[in-house]
Amino acid sequence: MADKKHNTDRRRLIAGLGTLAAANALPGQLTAQTGNETDILIIGGGIAGSSTAFHLAEQGRDVLLLERGEIASEASGQNMGGLGGSGWGNNPNLLSYLTAGSVEIFKRMQIDLGYDMEFRLSGTLTAIHTDEQYEYYQDDVAAQRNNGYQIELLSSREARAIEPESNGSLPGYMYRPERGQADPVKSTQAFAHAAQVAGATINTGHNVVSMSPLSAGGYSVQTESAEFRCQSLVLATGAWCGPIGEMLGLKIPIVPIRGQMWATESLPARVLHTIGSTVSSYAWSKDNGADEVTPPNLTHKNGRRMTRHLYGRQRMNGEIIFGGDRESLGYDKTPNRSGIEVNRQHAAEVIPLVASLPIARTWAGLMPFSLDGSPIIGKIPVRDNLFIVSGLASSGFGRGPMAGKLAADYIHSSNMNPVLGESDPARCVTET
Ligand SMILES: Cc1cc2nc3c(=O)[nH]c(=O)nc-3n(C[C@H](O)[C@H](O)[C@H](O)COP(=O)(O)OP(=O)(O)OC[C@H]3O[C@@H](n4cnc5c(N)ncnc54)[C@H](O)[C@@H]3O)c2cc1C
Repeated sequence: MADKKHNTDRRRLIAGLGTLAAANALPGQLTAQTGNETDILIIGGGIAGSSTAFHLAEQGRDVLLLERGEIASEASGQNMGGLGGSGWGNNPNLLSYLTAGSVEIFKRMQIDLGYDMEFRLSGTLTAIHTDEQYEYYQDDVAAQRNNGYQIELLSSREARAIEPESNGSLPGYMYRPERGQADPVKSTQAFAHAAQVAGATINTGHNVVSMSPLSAGGYSVQTESAEFRCQSLVLATGAWCGPIGEMLGLKIPIVPIRGQMWATESLPARVLHTIGSTVSSYAWSKDNGADEVTPPNLTHKNGRRMTRHLYGRQRMNGEIIFGGDRESLGYDKTPNRSGIEVNRQHAAEVIPLVASLPIARTWAGLMPFSLDGSPIIGKIPVRDNLFIVSGLASSGFGRGPMAGKLAADYIHSSNMNPVLGESDPARCVTET
């Protein structure tokens, strides 16, 4: 009976989310909860951890999330804000779930629950720079369309009709109407807020420094100032999964990869779509650069540039932002000016307007790349009641919402959605 009332109260809270979101209440502004015992403890307040917390709390589970900084203080707050994918396709696989499924969750948060996440289904234009690339992508687009994905090949004239600032002298563009964009910080904070409203406890400023299994089952988790105990533990620490795994005697093959970005001053709306380029994907289709210690699809290897990657958009505040480099430099996240300059020239080949706009600010963040390039989402079999949701690499902002929901559904029901077979931690997480 008590449980029934508890669940009814939670449902009322969820129904009231829109009002709270409209009032712009953020995590920490709701009534603080205390208590160091919980059913499920999540470490990491990026998009992966915040979405997992929301989807578990919504199902009535007791959830505590520990974040050492603020919500969205790492990659989830520093990214470009692009949402990927080309729809569900005829036979939805993990990629379709993570991309198209996450877009559905963004729609729910923005439209149904009332959070202002600056979400819109802008579509993406990806520039094709050479005739050789055009030929390759002609076949690729035809194959994708046969598989039911939403993608078109446009002439540069057709592209200019929907994106007037795009370069009309390029051979063509790929257009993916199902792709979108959203503000990284607002979106991640919205998930954490929704989790709190649904009953989760969100503790920021808690740096986890050690963990140990309890003899009676479950885990003890120590931060610099407190000890917490839980039945189940979820690792959502992004690029820091390696060091977090070591605290449990595990080797989690996720490495930090620096991504960097730059922004112009604010100007009136000029760039309407999310913008990309095929230079990198074409190069990676020939050689993705992976080896035992290097994940696939980086722009640099052993200090040398291998290719140029590009993504960007105009934010609602008017800034035009671009980025693209992916470099393995440990935990160094200082932006590199020469890389930013290469990226700016690349952007100007697609949107010539940016060549004349000064760079107003730069920043960088660390992306969680798994060594085999696939996400790591699910149960870690070498320990009891231990889960991970990570390895989302360069696309985790757009894929994190569904990654968190798939992880939450698995934890709540004990049944793994078959699409998670591709991301099974059993393939790569080992004892140290
Ligand atoms: C420059 C750049 C551009 C990008 N552009 C895009 C894009 O356009 N679209 C897209 O989809 N993706 C993009 N990404 C990738 C995306 O940002 C990441 O894949 C995603 O944010 C990863 O989310 P996460 O929750 O796994 O990790 P994070 O956001 O890094 O969250 C992990 C959290 O764990 C916390 N943590 C770590 N260790 C501890 C500890 N010991 N105790 C407590 N807390 C801890 C950290 O403080 C952090 O907040 C970009 C990334 C960068 C850097």
